[in-house]
Amino acid sequence: MKQYLLAPGPTPVPPAVLLAMAQPMIHHRTPEYEALFADVRRDLRLLFQCKNEVLMFAASGTGAMEGAVVNTLSPGDRVIVVRGGKFGERWADICQAYGLHVFPVDIPYGKSVDPAAVAGALERAPASKAVFATHSETSTGAVHDIQALAGIVRRTEALLVVDAITSLGVMDLPMDAWGVDVAVSGSQKALMLPPGLSFAALSDRAWERVPLARLPRFYFDFVRERKAIAGNQSAYTPAVSLVVGLRETLRLILTEGLPGVFARHDRLARAARAGVQALGLTLFAEHPGAACTAVTAPPGIDGGAVVKGMRKRGITIAGGQGSMKGKMFRISHMGYVDPFDVVTALGALEMVLADLGYPVSFGAGVGAAQRVLQA
Ligand SMILES: *Cc1c(COP(=O)(O)O)cnc(C)c1O
Repeated sequence: MKQYLLAPGPTPVPPAVLLAMAQPMIHHRTPEYEALFADVRRDLRLLFQCKNEVLMFAASGTGAMEGAVVNTLSPGDRVIVVRGGKFGERWADICQAYGLHVFPVDIPYGKSVDPAAVAGALERAPASKAVFATHSETSTGAVHDIQALAGIVRRTEALLVVDAITSLGVMDLPMDAWGVDVAVSGSQKALMLPPGLSFAALSDRAWERVPLARLPRFYFDFVRERKAIAGNQSAYTPAVSLVVGLRETLRLILTEGLPGVFARHDRLARAARAGVQALGLTLFAEHPGAACTAVTAPPGIDGGAVVKGMRKRGITIAGGQGSMKGKMFRISHMGYVDPFDVVTALGALEMVLADLGYPVSFGAGVGAAQRVLQA
């Protein structure tokens, strides 16, 4: 059966990228690798919209998240964490694992943070060293207003640390222009690669904090990695094949152009939302982002059954995580995705919902999406 991968990570890898990664292995301490790495370094800075080097590690996205924590903070530091889903909670979990004093700003699943709540937290917990936020909360589909948060955090001593794992290459995040101090990402979402690379970019303000940070670190030592990068190398063996693929996906992204990439994701997201809403379904997120569309399971229908029904037809989407399990399902339109992936997903969704006894007028969701895509 033909397979469609429409879960919010890992996402489909373009065939040309798969072929590039199938080339014979090269050694990393060679001019050949250094030429590759120089291209990747340049293009990563364009993607992150930052002037400083982007650090790269052989890890899933969580690796760079942990790196961001241990390179900027010291034991017992006070930090504010915006929690509105699994990934916001992950920031808090990492901070707690390292003995930081976490002040959570909790928002209900599906909602986006009110920037005033973060301003209030900074007042109640002065001397906070960092604010951790998630740009695109993949577990709920919600987008958070990072520009507004940056405006607030900038006026304090705190660093703004942003999980951009499903927003980088999906929605605009000009980190230098907005004043984001640390942005982290991973390879298996909008970067259209297999899992295994994570990235971190730091502002000058954040780099000044690194030598003062006393949390223990070894593999994710940002200073050591930056030193290696200055010599166009990595401190340890890089994930060579993934870096080869990364050169190709960065080329694809920058050839399309960031504005074009953002506009495409926005259009696909609008089509997906129009489609599910035309079927009488409700969006889970109040302010949905462009990475994935999270849909509330209709009364009497298990979100997990929708995921299972889709999988039986060859389409992989995602269900709800943690306490959201069964209550929703999520369709990704991030990365190597085009209008007909969305149309296909909606067509299958109509059939699966009908199987589950939900009243469906065939073509209603597909048609609504087509009208958005045709405009
Ligand atoms: C996928 C994802 C992560 C990282 O998860 P890994 O499994 O470590 O790659 C972190 N944050 C968000 C918002 C994500 O979507």
